[in-house]
Amino acid sequence: MIIPKVQRRYCRFCKKYTEQTVTEAKRKPRKKNSRSQRRFMRKMKGYGSFPRQNPKGREKPTKKLDLRYKCAECKKTQSIGTGFRVKKFEIRKE
Ligand SMILES: [Zn+2]
Repeated sequence: MIIPKVQRRYCRFCKKYTEQTVTEAKRKPRKKNSRSQRRFMRKMKGYGSFPRQNPKGREKPTKKLDLRYKCAECKKTQSIGTGFRVKKFEIRKE
């Protein structure tokens, strides 16, 4: 799937159609000191198995895309809906 880098889309902050650039959201590393991560690290300490079912062998063949649209006028970024699955993805540059 190839999509253009600059698109005219509705901006919910400006409340009108503006030019927006598309970027793929980068994966951020997990926060080490969040509450759930601390609980997970406590569980993983010492002996014992993995605290939940390990997804090994039943992963999906494709990952969901996370697209962000940045408005050229208000410089705000928004994501629209949930991502979709594609095997090949490319942002066309002009
Ligand atoms: Zn805007």
